Amino acid sequence: MTREYLKKATLTSTSGASEVHDTVKGILDDIETGGDAKALEYAAKFDRYEGAVLLSQEEIDAAIAQVPEKLKADIRFAHDNVRRFAEIQKSTLTNVEMEIEPGFVAGQKAIPVDAAGCYVPGGRYSHIASAIMTVTTAKVAGCHSITACSPPRPGVGVAPAIIYAAHICGADNILAMGGVQGVAAMTFGLFGLPKANILVGPGNQFVAEAKRILFGRVGIDMIAGPTDSLILADKTADAHIVATDLVSQAEHGYNSPVWLVTDDRDLAKTVMDMVPALIDDLPETNRESAFAAWRDYAEVIICEDREDMAKCSDEYAPEHLTVQAEDLDWWLDTLTCYGSLFLGEETTVSYGDKASGTNHVLPTSGAAGYTGGLSVHKYMKIVTWQRTTRDASKRVAEATARISRLEGMEGHARAADVRLAKYFPGENFD
Ligand code: NAD
Repeated sequence: MTREYLKKATLTSTSGASEVHDTVKGILDDIETGGDAKALEYAAKFDRYEGAVLLSQEEIDAAIAQVPEKLKADIRFAHDNVRRFAEIQKSTLTNVEMEIEPGFVAGQKAIPVDAAGCYVPGGRYSHIASAIMTVTTAKVAGCHSITACSPPRPGVGVAPAIIYAAHICGADNILAMGGVQGVAAMTFGLFGLPKANILVGPGNQFVAEAKRILFGRVGIDMIAGPTDSLILADKTADAHIVATDLVSQAEHGYNSPVWLVTDDRDLAKTVMDMVPALIDDLPETNRESAFAAWRDYAEVIICEDREDMAKCSDEYAPEHLTVQAEDLDWWLDTLTCYGSLFLGEETTVSYGDKASGTNHVLPTSGAAGYTGGLSVHKYMKIVTWQRTTRDASKRVAEATARISRLEGMEGHARAADVRLAKYFPGENFD
C-alpha cells in the first residue's frame, strides 16, 4: 500500500518534550516544598497576576454581573446539552451483583471520587466551554467537591464568562491560577482546597506534563494536551469546507497538528491552495499561530483507497476525526481510534468543542489508541464486594487454601483454614 505525503510535518507533538518535563518537574517540586507562597510566586512570574486566587462569593457575583445575557443563555444551552449527555452516560454504569456459587454473592458498584480538580485553560483563549465540559461531568458523576482553576489575565483575573460557566455547572471553588501552579494547588490542597482525587481538563504542554508527572498520587482523565485533528475526505467533499475546518482547528495554537487524509489528489491540491488565504483572513491575533501550526505540523496524505484511509487514520489516532465522504455508516463501523468522531459535512468539530453535548476534553498525541475522552465514567471508581453463607464458602475456601500453599503463601492459606475448621469441624480438607 503506497501513501504519498503532499505535505509532511517538520515538528511533532514530542518536539521539545524533555525540556518541558524538566521545567514542569522543577516547578512541582518547588511548590510542594514551598506551598501557597511558592504557587503565588509562579503565578506572578508566568501570569503577572497578584490578585485574589480563591474567589469569594462577592467576586463570583461581580464577575457574573459582567456577562451579557445572550452569552449566559448560550452557556446555559451548552451546559444543558453536556449535562443531558453526561446523564445518559452515567445511566450505563449500573451496580450489579451475581451468585458466583449458590449462596456466594459478588457485586460491583460505581462510586464517584470525592474531590475533582478541573483545569480550564485560559492562556491564549478563554476556554469557557472547557469549564462546562469538566465541571458538568464531575457534578453529574456525583463528586462532592469540585474545584475549577483557570489562569488569570494580568491585572484582570479569570474571564467572567468562565466564572459564570464554572458556577452554574456546579463548581464549589474557583481558583484564579493557571498552568503547573494551578494543577499543583489542586493536587497538594493549597489555599485551603481539598486535595483532588482526580485532575481533569485540557491544557497546554506544561499542564499536560504536570498531569503526567502527578499521575499515581492523583488520578487523571488522560493526557489532553495541544489539540490535533484529522479529516478524512473523498471526491464528494466540499474543498472549501474541508479547508475551513482544517484552519478552524489549526487556530488552537502554534503546535496544533491538522491532517488531511484523502484518496483524491485534486481535492488535496485544491484544499492546500485554499488554506493560506483562509488563515490570512483570520483576525490578526489568531493568524500567526494558525500559520505556524499549518507550516510546521500539518500533513496532507494521499491514500490508494478508503480502506487505507481508515487504516492511516487509526494509526494517527487523532483527537478529533471528521469524515467528509460517502457511506458514513461504513466509516462509523470501520474506524477504531479517535477521541470524537464527526460524521458528514453537516456537523463540525466546533459543534462538539462548544455546544452539542459530547465532551471536548479528548485524548491527544495518539492517546486515542488506548482511551476515549472525558466522560462521567472517568470520575467513577468501579469497585467490587462479596458476601457468602458459611455453607457456600466451603468450596472457595478449599480452593483458596490449596492455591495459596502452592504459591508459598501460608498466611493466605490459614485465613481459609481457620474458617473451614470453625464452620465444618471434624472434616478433612487436605
Ligand atoms: P493553558 O491554560 O493551558 O496554559 C496557560 C498557562 O501556561 C499559564 O497560566 C502559565 O502558567 C503556563 N505557562 C506558559 N508558559 C510557560 C512556561 N514557559 N513555563 C511554565 N509554564 C508556562 O492555556 P493555553 O496556553 O492557551 O493552552 C491551552 C491548550 O489547551 C491548547 O494547547 C489547546 O490546544 C488545548 N486544548 C485541548 C483540548 C483537548 O481536549 N485536548 C481542549 C481545549 C484546549
